[in-house]
Amino acid sequence: MISDFPFIYTANPNFPNRYISPHVLEKFIQTNLNDYSTIIGYSTFGKPIYKTRFGNGTIKVLAWSQMHGNESNATHAMLDLWESLKTNPDLANDFWSAIQLDFIFMLNPDGSEAWTRRNGLNIDLNRDYHMRSSKEFPLLQSIAENGHYDYAFNLHEQRTLFSTDGIHPATLSFLAPAENVEREVTETRKKAMAVIAAIHTALYTEIPHNMARYNDEFYPNSTGDNFTKMGLPTILYEGGHFPEDYLRRNTRKYYTIALFEGLKAIANLNGKTSRWENYFDLPENKEDHFDIIYRNVTLPSNDTRTIDIAIQYKEQILPGYEEITFQPIVVEVGDCGKKKGWKEVDCVGKKYLSKELFPKIDEVQNFEII
Ligand SMILES: [Zn+2]
Repeated sequence: MISDFPFIYTANPNFPNRYISPHVLEKFIQTNLNDYSTIIGYSTFGKPIYKTRFGNGTIKVLAWSQMHGNESNATHAMLDLWESLKTNPDLANDFWSAIQLDFIFMLNPDGSEAWTRRNGLNIDLNRDYHMRSSKEFPLLQSIAENGHYDYAFNLHEQRTLFSTDGIHPATLSFLAPAENVEREVTETRKKAMAVIAAIHTALYTEIPHNMARYNDEFYPNSTGDNFTKMGLPTILYEGGHFPEDYLRRNTRKYYTIALFEGLKAIANLNGKTSRWENYFDLPENKEDHFDIIYRNVTLPSNDTRTIDIAIQYKEQILPGYEEITFQPIVVEVGDCGKKKGWKEVDCVGKKYLSKELFPKIDEVQNFEII
């Protein structure tokens, strides 16, 4: 049982940017966590993949970050959790004597370096359970199958498309994945649901409207579904949008607290499934937003008729940069229907300025509205 010491969040000052270079992370691990870390294997392009063991408790948890390279929030969350607990020695002692956490940092370092979802060979590691086409995924699979873990955390990020209720962004979403097409609520799933319900309760005072759960459709070749099927309760975390925070600094903070609360719940539940039904209090994620919608735009070539134009930012790391940049891409033209924009611009009475006649789908925004 972990006592109720307050958790005070501290961001790890070595990682101020959303982008994390695998080389910078490696140096940090070698300098600060070397005694607890091992190299479990190498990526397609030969980068080492590290597993770090935190704590020596009896409850064993396996977690991994950045199996999708362009999702750094969970890597930050682990670095921030470690930093935060350094400044809370009583809590740290209590915490790490209850839990043993094996954390695989950056399962996909090639994708992380290039800020892409997929690995060096364009394989989605989260769909590689049966084919085992990648070098990276089988490393995780064999650790999970042989490590006698009690729980697993499958740590991801989602795009800005999702809200919890049509108004608030889904800053954190969770899932207790199904283990069959019937989506049966098995004991294994109940264990995961109980942990998610506890995280929801713990964060409710801070972000009551920014947490959701994912649809539990069964994905036969994805990681969480298969680990659950194997009897390992697996909790999917998805960090998402927070208002006006594309660098996800707020998400990073709440992700860290959710990681702490998830581990604390595991220690305190001790294998029980208390209040698992409260999982269903979380609203389901809704895919209903774009980053920007320009409403009622009159194109010079279209007399008095109006259209909506939706923009979605594309994230990329440019050569020589240490932070990602955001490129506005046109993703919808015409009627944006019931979709909303995190930023809505009413263009009545405004002028459309462009060298071209109309905006082009899937291309960079080629106009200004003034
Ligand atoms: Zn992901």
